[in-house]
Amino acid sequence: MRRDGRFYRHTGGFDPSQLPLAVLSGATGILLMGIVYGYVVRYVPFIYLNLVVLIGFGYGVGWTVGNTVRKGKCRNRTLRDLLWLVAVVFALYVSWVTWVFAVFGHQHLILDPRSLWQAIVFIGRKGTWGIGSSGVPVSGILLYLVWVAEAIILAVMAWSTSMDKDPGPFCETCGQWVTPMAGFPRLGFTHAADRTSGLKAMAAGETDPLFSLGPCADDCNIWLSVLLEACPSRKHLIVLTVTQTVQTTNAKGEVANAVTGIVRNRLIDPETCARIIEWLQPSLPEPEEADDAPKEPEPVVAASE
Ligand SMILES: [Zn+2]
Repeated sequence: MRRDGRFYRHTGGFDPSQLPLAVLSGATGILLMGIVYGYVVRYVPFIYLNLVVLIGFGYGVGWTVGNTVRKGKCRNRTLRDLLWLVAVVFALYVSWVTWVFAVFGHQHLILDPRSLWQAIVFIGRKGTWGIGSSGVPVSGILLYLVWVAEAIILAVMAWSTSMDKDPGPFCETCGQWVTPMAGFPRLGFTHAADRTSGLKAMAAGETDPLFSLGPCADDCNIWLSVLLEACPSRKHLIVLTVTQTVQTTNAKGEVANAVTGIVRNRLIDPETCARIIEWLQPSLPEPEEADDAPKEPEPVVAASE
C-alpha cells in the first residue's frame, strides 16, 4: 500500500511542557503496580493466579505508556517506543526490588543494579517457590527460563496495550488529537460485483467506492465499518478509517469477529467528509431498536456547524 500525501503522518513532535509531567505521573503509577506485583509473586502460591496478575501488570504498564503518549502529545514513533522500553524495564526493576526485599524478610532493600543482580543469582541458585504438590523449589535453568518468560509476557502485553491505546492523528494547528466525528457500522457494497475492486481502490486511498456502500443485511457475516475522526475545528484535520469485520460461528455456536484494516488515516477534506456523512447517514440503524442481535458499537455522529 502506498503511503503518499493522501495519508496522515506524524510530524515527530511532542509537547515539552506536558511530556515530563506525563512521564512523572506514569512512573508513579508503574512504581505502585511494580510493588504490588512483587508482593503478589512473593506471597501468592498459585502460579496461574500469578500469570493472571502478570497479564494485568502488562496491561497496566501498556495503558500507562499510551496515556503518557496522549498527555505528552508525543507524535514521535522512536520516542514512543523508547517510552515503552523504559516503562517495561522500570516495571520489572521495581518488581524485582520488591520481590527480593520480601524474599530476604524485609531486611535488605537493594536498589543498585549490581547488588540486585547478585541477589537474584543467589536466589536462582538456591531456588524459590515450588510447582505442584511436590513443593520442590524451582531453581537453576528452569527458574531463569521462567523469569525470561515473565519479562517477555510483560513486554508483549505492554506493547500491544499501548498500541491499542494509540491516540491516532494529531492536529498541529489545534494542538489536539482527533476524536471520532461520525461512525457507520455494518456497511456492504450495494452491488456485490463492486466488492473486490472497491476494496482495492479504498486501500489505495480512493474515496469513490464509499459511495457504493449501503446498509448490510441483518444476517450478513462480513461487513465494513467507516469511521471519520477530526480535530476540534472539524476543518484542519479529518481522517477516514475503514475496517472489515468477518464474523464466524463455530460448532458450539460461539461467535467470533475478525477485524482487519482496509484503509487507515486517509486525509479527507471537509467537503468530501460532508458528502460521505450525507451518503452514509441513512444506513445508520434506527435508534431504540429492540432485538437480540449482537450489539454494535454506538454510531457517533456529531452535528457539523
Ligand atoms: Zn485542528
